Amino acid sequence: MSLGRNADSVTGRPAPGRVEDVRRGNLVRVLAAMVQARTDPNFRPTRADLASRTGLTKASVSSLVAELVDAGLVAESGATREGERGRPGVGLELNTRRGVVGMEINVDYISAGLLDLGGTLRIHRTLESGNRGQTPESVMALLAGIVGDVAAEASAAGILILGGGLAVPGLVDSSSGTVASAPNLHWRGVELQLDRLLPAAPFGTVLHNEANCAALAELWYGHGLDFRDYLFVSGEVGVGGGLVIGSELFAGPQGQAGEVGHMVVEPSGPACSCGGHGCLETFAGQEAIFSEAGIPPGTASVRLARLGELLASGDAAAISAVARAGRYLGIAAASTARLMNLSAVVLGGHFTPMGPWLRPALQRSLAEYAPGIVGDARVEISELGQSAALLGAAGSSLRAVLAAPFSLTPAS
Ligand SMILES: [Zn+2]
Repeated sequence: MSLGRNADSVTGRPAPGRVEDVRRGNLVRVLAAMVQARTDPNFRPTRADLASRTGLTKASVSSLVAELVDAGLVAESGATREGERGRPGVGLELNTRRGVVGMEINVDYISAGLLDLGGTLRIHRTLESGNRGQTPESVMALLAGIVGDVAAEASAAGILILGGGLAVPGLVDSSSGTVASAPNLHWRGVELQLDRLLPAAPFGTVLHNEANCAALAELWYGHGLDFRDYLFVSGEVGVGGGLVIGSELFAGPQGQAGEVGHMVVEPSGPACSCGGHGCLETFAGQEAIFSEAGIPPGTASVRLARLGELLASGDAAAISAVARAGRYLGIAAASTARLMNLSAVVLGGHFTPMGPWLRPALQRSLAEYAPGIVGDARVEISELGQSAALLGAAGSSLRAVLAAPFSLTPAS
């Protein structure tokens, strides 16, 4: 019988490297069991609960929990409850005095927020900023400013920051921290100075695509609780998309799958920021909707508010502009649903406030172009609002911490 390449061939015992792998794997298992236990907000697992959930011995769990407490990832909540044999145990929770920072650069604002390890968004700052055509250096300097404010507020609350995630509306290479292309910011091939944002955080800052982050936030904090497979479409200046399959983001070989905004929905349609034409974005992006509705130029927040007023007052041009966006969204969603075997669509970003006017046209398109594939009850509107991308970026960072707790514990 082979003992595997890490076993000592003389003693037959696992070699030290293998022991370390097992310890690391068990630390992750204990944390995963704690995350699962969190579905009931009042439940605090004890060491005995974690032993039965993980299948590890109580002695192993006690030693692993001690390491996680020393590393600051787990805290004893002080509350006691009846253990399996009627003995009281000490409740445990993910340490809410540790957190991660979610950050977002969008076309007309930047934002930063702190998510504690328990999954609560504790601090959230947004700054309106016209970033289109600004240099990456100047936008990153602004972002560093509000991240510094969030870090100071976290520090005053006794929360230590472990890492962060930054969402940008464009194609990104996370491994090099490079924005390959963000047409609506006019950035191309830009390497961002991510290490300047949270210089003291052990997990650093990781770059993500904004729509993928919003799709993940929906999975973790929104409609992903109901759906396992869906297309997420986010309305911003552009139109972003994310594919969630089997409760996982399908990002494609280079992280660029789900770019539904540049799916061609009208071959003879208008020119698009990507260089092509007839893309979904040219019908469902903000500029397309505002100009079709006859809303004069201005800041996005003012124009969105005006659109909301017009829709509420029954203005025919506004209603028709949003219905047209919904019709093309439905065409793109119908093709995507067929291609990827999906049965649900979740709309977010600026589509959320337009939902009541957008949804009927979208449902008609789905019924016309993909009958019986995505039923009316499987078109949902996100309720996460403008914090979705930030929550997804922070959530990715939170998961990175929970997947590698051993980077904070001394090797045994
Ligand atoms: Zn395009």
